[in-house]
Amino acid sequence: MIDYTNINFDEKGLIPVVVQDGESGEVLMVAYANRQSLEETEKRKEMVFWSRSRQLLWHKGETSGNTLRVMELRLDCDGDAILAVVEPAGPACHTGEVSCFFRTLTEEMPGKATFPGQLWKYLKERQHHNPKESYTASLIQSGPKRAAQKIGEEGVETALAIAVGERDEVIYEAADLVYHLMVGLLSSGVSLQEIWAELEKRHSSH
Ligand code: AMP
Ligand code: ZN
Ligand code: ZN
Ligand code: ZN
Repeated sequence: MIDYTNINFDEKGLIPVVVQDGESGEVLMVAYANRQSLEETEKRKEMVFWSRSRQLLWHKGETSGNTLRVMELRLDCDGDAILAVVEPAGPACHTGEVSCFFRTLTEEMPGKATFPGQLWKYLKERQHHNPKESYTASLIQSGPKRAAQKIGEEGVETALAIAVGERDEVIYEAADLVYHLMVGLLSSGVSLQEIWAELEKRHSSH
């Protein structure tokens, strides 16, 4: 149940909603909600906004099919902004981009914290592709043994690089290891989210 008591709607009865992909961590879009759109959101378990341009309730994805399944709703400190953590059915932006924030105003920052999640989502897609065109697909479709072997190899190579203290080698081998670990998880039908949940459980139980 949504608790409305601490939500501070503005003078027009609206509140901005930041929408985040719960799997990749990417910020997908910003839109506005009013009380009624939040009630609809709760009913449908999919994001319903208030369209300021069209002045109507807007069930995101109603024409495109790119709905946003609600995983979690959060309220900010002073109650004037909502964070919606979602599972998107497709690109959130009407341009076809995954995120509305595809334009840069400054130089891009390499290695953003959300990249592992983006890579994971990409690999999940790739595993079903033609193995002749995709190394990831060929690894996964040839059974768990190849991924398992690669994880062993890359684990040893990473360990050696760390022991020797070669910075560039550590980066290169750790990248190999992380990639093959993701492939191995896909082969096992285990999600990255389950690994984070396990670590989170240990983190909170000390
Ligand atoms: P949809 O809700 O995805 O079926 O899209 C319906 C219409 O809403 C589109 O034609 C756009 O005009 C608008 N729209 C969709 N997604 C966005 C978005 N992320 N930000 C702003 N407008 C959007
Ligand atoms: Zn605020
Ligand atoms: Zn957009
Ligand atoms: Zn390697």
